[in-house]
Amino acid sequence: MFQPTGPHLSLPTASSVIDAVRDPTSVVFNLDGYQVLAACDLPLGGRRVSAVANSVEAACPDCGVVSTRVHQRTRQKVKDLGVGGKDIELVIIKPRFLCAEAACARRTFTQVTDQLPFRARCTARLKAAAVEAVLDEGMPIWRTCARYQLGWATINTAVTADALTIPAPDMVPVRALGIDEHRFARAKWFKHPETAQWCRVEPWMSTFVDADTGHILGVVDGRSSANITRWLKQRSQAWLEQLQVVAIDPSSAFRNAVRQVLPAVEISVDHWHVVRLGNQMLTEVRQRVTREVLGRRGRKEDSVWAHRMLLLRAGDRLTDAGLHRLEQVLDDEDYEQVAAAWAVKERLRAMLAARDIPAAQNARIDFEMAVAAADMAETDKLAATVAKWWTEIKVFVRTQVTNARTESANTGIKQIKRTGRGFRNQRNYQSRILGTSVRQTRRRRRIPHQQGLHAQR
Ligand SMILES: [Zn+2]
Repeated sequence: MFQPTGPHLSLPTASSVIDAVRDPTSVVFNLDGYQVLAACDLPLGGRRVSAVANSVEAACPDCGVVSTRVHQRTRQKVKDLGVGGKDIELVIIKPRFLCAEAACARRTFTQVTDQLPFRARCTARLKAAAVEAVLDEGMPIWRTCARYQLGWATINTAVTADALTIPAPDMVPVRALGIDEHRFARAKWFKHPETAQWCRVEPWMSTFVDADTGHILGVVDGRSSANITRWLKQRSQAWLEQLQVVAIDPSSAFRNAVRQVLPAVEISVDHWHVVRLGNQMLTEVRQRVTREVLGRRGRKEDSVWAHRMLLLRAGDRLTDAGLHRLEQVLDDEDYEQVAAAWAVKERLRAMLAARDIPAAQNARIDFEMAVAAADMAETDKLAATVAKWWTEIKVFVRTQVTNARTESANTGIKQIKRTGRGFRNQRNYQSRILGTSVRQTRRRRRIPHQQGLHAQR
């Protein structure tokens, strides 16, 4: 006899068959807690579906006594997802119950269900689909409105409400915290109302991310030390105490803020940002030397300009052909300063790639020797920055805690900004960022919605 195998093919047990008996229309329509009474085509297209809740009793919202006595039934039109590629006009036959408790002041009450809460004009599954489109698929709200036939405010309220169910940061155990900044809108000019002077406003936001998982814990306005400090001070003592490392960009404002609130925590500076400083130094040297040698900016016929990207690539990961080309570029006597700057950049990378402190300290000696040999203002400046951040670089070497996940969170944030075509309301922007991030984390860890979560505000 044929025996189905595997989880998808196993036959249902007798009890589950009894529980799951629904008429075919209700199965197809699949609105939780409802069964379909009738369905018909409308003369001008579309279809009308009438449904009634499975539950034949309800508890009074005032006294809590369960009643089965129906006072009257009303027909209510609600919005719902389309089925089978067509819009649906859903009509719910809704009972109004008589309260069974004689002492209760309330006489009647209407039925509420998970899909149709009190005063709902659309099903919960329709709202959930709209929120999913905005937060998971990154669809702008105006387009979601058209797809689901809902108003902008309805969807925006649902999205904001979803963001409010995110876990409070204090409930997320964090060992390594990443702090990063990003500009969320173009710089704007405002005329000061009193002094009548024009001031430039850069709308910055700072994000706090679990450096291990990439989960966004919070977003604050600005990137000043005061804003960072304020967010950190709002956390519970227990949360702050479990922090071991904070990863930041080489920004003195961030370092001061973290030092102020968390004097005992270790600060790690992101290696990627330090390498970027090395690359900037190399580019500055190349541009200056080109101007000195040729008296103009680099062009594509200049070997050093044509290979400017090759100069910035990781020297130890170049192919033989790449190395050969690089040698030809750097062999030119006129460009020996560029060769010296390249050597400094490579020593810097080797230092950051060290696996332990002694190796990093040895690599730093090589780096300092290359800086001394180069003897240029640009390389001296880089060495000064490394000296200023040496403690934090050593923490990075030891812990390997980086802002890489913060950076990827920022990429996601920029995507949200593009989708929104710029946000004027910062609160809407923040709710999208936090909502998207928490849903990603839930999907990664397969945490069902609402489980173990509570409102942040
Ligand atoms: Zn009652």
